[in-house]
Amino acid sequence: MAKESKKSEPKELTVEQKLKALFQLQTMLSDIDKIKTLRGELPLEVEDLEDEIAGLSTRIEKIKADVEGLKSAITSKKIEIETAKATIEKYQAQQENVRNNREYDFLSKEIEFQTLEVEFCEKRIKEFISEEKIKSEELALSITALEEREKDLEQKKEELDEIVAETKQEEEKLREKAKNLETSIDPRLLQSFKRIRKNSRNGLGIVYVQRDACGGCFNKIPPQRQLDIRSRKKIIVCEYCGRIMIDPELAGMNFKPKQAVAKTKAKAKKETKKETKKETKKETKKETKKETKKEIKKEKKS
Ligand SMILES: [Zn+2]
Repeated sequence: MAKESKKSEPKELTVEQKLKALFQLQTMLSDIDKIKTLRGELPLEVEDLEDEIAGLSTRIEKIKADVEGLKSAITSKKIEIETAKATIEKYQAQQENVRNNREYDFLSKEIEFQTLEVEFCEKRIKEFISEEKIKSEELALSITALEEREKDLEQKKEELDEIVAETKQEEEKLREKAKNLETSIDPRLLQSFKRIRKNSRNGLGIVYVQRDACGGCFNKIPPQRQLDIRSRKKIIVCEYCGRIMIDPELAGMNFKPKQAVAKTKAKAKKETKKETKKETKKETKKETKKETKKEIKKEKKS
């Protein structure tokens, strides 16, 4: 075990202090990473909105063209009606001056045909009008949607500018703090910490034990190793991912790690007894038993 940690020289940090400093550094660096991610996501949101706006604009143009097409179709049907009506009038006038029945019947059939033509055109006009109505409603909706998206975009852009400015400041502050903290950490330890961090996907170089496992790679940590980590006597790394391990309590995590529940239950009982009844701590079971007996005797005396 590292005896050096007991040194009381002002510049030499204990393992506990080293771990604490490293974890603080990790927290700052993780915050910087988060800021970078945040800044990376917002431009994407803006881009998505811009794409959506472009899509809506294209759609609006298409609907407008459709509406125009329907309008001109209506106009041409109206012209067809006028033409047919004029033809009917012409045939009716000709009927006044027919020379025989055959001619009269022929004109009657023509008039009937033109009348059907007018009816057909009127029917088509009705269809076009209802189609145009639907399209116009769709157009109005699309225009509203476009206006909303444009407002969103404007807001997002402002937000982005603000966040970029804000986070830049925050990032600089954090970098400054991290830099200061780094000077207090042993260079070799710092170097290996940075190397581990660089090689890990989540940017974590130091992690605490979580549910009996490494907080970085989530592989189980053997109980003895967990005890070593908790003893804070030397730097211990995860045997799977190489990340530096820290006791959750030292890392400032509030939760009671599940890891130790089974083990500490017994220990906790002993400790409560010890704390209430005696000053000295004994490690082995035998000694604990002896002590407990003594305590009981003492208790009886008093
Ligand atoms: Zn690990």
